[in-house]
Amino acid sequence: MAGGSGVLVLVEHAEGELKPVSLEVITAGRSLADAMGGSVTVGVIGAGVAAPAESVSRVVGVDAVVTVDDEHLATYRGTAWTTVVASLIDEVQPAAVLAPATTSGRDYMPRVAARLGTGHAADAVGVAFADGKVVATRPMLESRVQSAVAFEGDGPATISMRPGSSPRAAAGDGSAPVRALDVDLSEADLALAVAPPEAPEGAGKQALSTAERIVAGGRGLGEPDKFALIEELAAELNAAVAATRPLSDAGWRPHSDQIGQTGAQVSPKLYIAVGISGAVQHLVGVQNADFIVAINRDPNAPIFKVASFGIVGDLFEVVPAVIAELKAANG
Ligand SMILES: Cc1cc2nc3c(=O)[nH]c(=O)nc-3n(C[C@H](O)[C@H](O)[C@H](O)COP(=O)(O)OP(=O)(O)OC[C@H]3O[C@@H](n4cnc5c(N)ncnc54)[C@H](O)[C@@H]3O)c2cc1C
Repeated sequence: MAGGSGVLVLVEHAEGELKPVSLEVITAGRSLADAMGGSVTVGVIGAGVAAPAESVSRVVGVDAVVTVDDEHLATYRGTAWTTVVASLIDEVQPAAVLAPATTSGRDYMPRVAARLGTGHAADAVGVAFADGKVVATRPMLESRVQSAVAFEGDGPATISMRPGSSPRAAAGDGSAPVRALDVDLSEADLALAVAPPEAPEGAGKQALSTAERIVAGGRGLGEPDKFALIEELAAELNAAVAATRPLSDAGWRPHSDQIGQTGAQVSPKLYIAVGISGAVQHLVGVQNADFIVAINRDPNAPIFKVASFGIVGDLFEVVPAVIAELKAANG
């Protein structure tokens, strides 16, 4: 087995708060570390990371926190992250490194693997320890099969974990020690200039990846203008809006709204599916929702098999009635 027996988990944060996907990766890291008899160290990278580092030190399952705090790390730069993560690996000497398979995680993790000459598995949905080797599970062929990738050699296994593939670790009241690591960033590390992130389409729109409540619309809406009903319900619930693939394919909604195998994977507390049949390619995106409510006029729609609560009825009657109740309740 490479390095030590521990796991280094790299987390993401924004505006001082941990992103929910970070808690998912900590869960995966904890179970892998337990299987190896090792510890979980969390790396927090950025500029002004005291608040997220403090939050992560309290999360259940975290043994230690190492921060790399540098004003040059205020926004993501693949080159700088590669150097920082390589330094964290040198410091922690883990057997495995896990990061979220987000846009940035999928960018820097293979770079780190290439720099260290070690193996990499992208977009894994599970990690395990078997026969003395770290093993990552990766969906292939449009999720029809799952492959097991076993890591050989001396370098740490580097794995990016698909958002939504593990439950979130609990916030807890732990007190893992936090230490700082200084990393010298060279001119080459900082050469890549990053433009400020663009606001998502639709001013003030909530990000699906972090939303606690999501209202999603499907082809049952019939025509693009009817999506206003989804937006109205979402506004009453302070929820994000989402859609199925036929709606994004038809240009009713931007692709960034699409949930599922070829869209976003989400893990809200509440997911309301309106006029959505519940195709497997859609459901893989919501499998980590705590509570699914389905509104569909077909009692045999597959969505009802996964729904915690189902309403069989015409959405054009049910949704306005729910909105009216919520409006009355919200004053
Ligand atoms: C490789 C591949 C990848 C895919 N990736 C994705 C993906 O990422 N995300 C995704 O969503 N799909 C994906 N799909 C498509 C997926 O297979 C389904 O076709 C799609 O999810 C169906 O969308 P829908 O539920 O909106 O539409 P439909 O399946 O047409 O369902 C519409 C539902 O609305 C109900 N309905 C109709 N009128 C009303 C009404 N008035 N009131 C109440 N209910 C009503 C119907 O009973 C029906 O159940 C993928 C397919 C493939 C092959």
